[in-house]
Amino acid sequence: MLKRGSTIGVFGGGQLGRMMAAAAAPLGYRCIGYAPEGDNVAALLCSDFVTAEWDDEAALADFASRCDVVTWEFENVPVATARAIPQGGIFPPPAALETAQDRLNEKRFVEVLGGRTAPYVPVDSRADLDAALDTIGLPAILKTRRDGYDGKGQWRIHSADDAAIDLPAAPTILEGFVTFEAEFSIVLVRGQDGEMRVWDSTRNIHEDGVLSASQFPAGPQIEAQVDEARALAKKVAQKLGYVGVLTLEFFATDDGPVFNEMAPRVHNSGHWTIEGAATSQFENHIRAVAGLPLGNTRTVAKAVEMRNILGSDIESAHALLDDGDTHLHDYGKSDIREGRKMGHVTRLARR
Ligand code: AMP
Repeated sequence: MLKRGSTIGVFGGGQLGRMMAAAAAPLGYRCIGYAPEGDNVAALLCSDFVTAEWDDEAALADFASRCDVVTWEFENVPVATARAIPQGGIFPPPAALETAQDRLNEKRFVEVLGGRTAPYVPVDSRADLDAALDTIGLPAILKTRRDGYDGKGQWRIHSADDAAIDLPAAPTILEGFVTFEAEFSIVLVRGQDGEMRVWDSTRNIHEDGVLSASQFPAGPQIEAQVDEARALAKKVAQKLGYVGVLTLEFFATDDGPVFNEMAPRVHNSGHWTIEGAATSQFENHIRAVAGLPLGNTRTVAKAVEMRNILGSDIESAHALLDDGDTHLHDYGKSDIREGRKMGHVTRLARR
């Protein structure tokens, strides 16, 4: 168990790290962030922030020596960077990054554990794509295996004409298009002693491949599929020897939950837990990596809605507070770009 005053290192400098640092403070810890140059908004809430490249060995060694334990808020931290921290000094285990950073790996991993996925075929060339389209049929989605997020690095293929794209230089995967009623995620936390707790699932609404809102209650169709999805998520966490918050995203279909992807970290679809649950995903992540007992995850409101604020909408976000049940989280980003996640609001209907 980390003693009070200990230092938690966080790889990544985005809003997730910022909200982790905010959760660590009342538990008696401080955070030091580490990320390459960028709009590192976590730095504003961390007690110190190291700006260095992921492969800067000297900076990494110095960072490790200043931290009692290290975690990450960014899932594309190179595995070698995570492994530069001595074993047992970093949670979740770096093997979780290795599994989740590659869409092909994570699908295979989940299938072995009994999960259902969209049909998929790895594609490394034009000939592969033609063969994969024959196998999978139309419509389909081509995705880069690595580094894609929020719908980036994806091409929807509805017709033979759509398939005439310039293939990216990186390896890709062709997925069959899943017909689904709704999307949801399982956000769970696993402690160092193997105890697991799961938050309620919300209905996740996406626009242009980006999460725009999560709503609780999620509705009967999702509720009927949550148990099966939770069982799978727990198997994934168990198999990885996971410590911290883990997220698995699913499509709710007529055949049951179809696994889409996993994030070995706190997740946008869990932001509602800051006000809407007894213990937030950020607090429980910090508790887990610090070896503290986990907090209760029960929902404390009758209904909750989290909405992302994108681009310049952040400039008028204070007006949303005219409604007294709405809570604003402005991530403090200075670089306002259309479509960029700048903040979120959570609205609770109290019990
Ligand atoms: P991803 O980056 O894989 O989470 O994809 C972003 C969003 O695109 C998902 O949340 C879905 O709304 C949609 N999507 C991704 N893959 C599929 C699929 N195989 N079938 C249907 N919709 C998909």
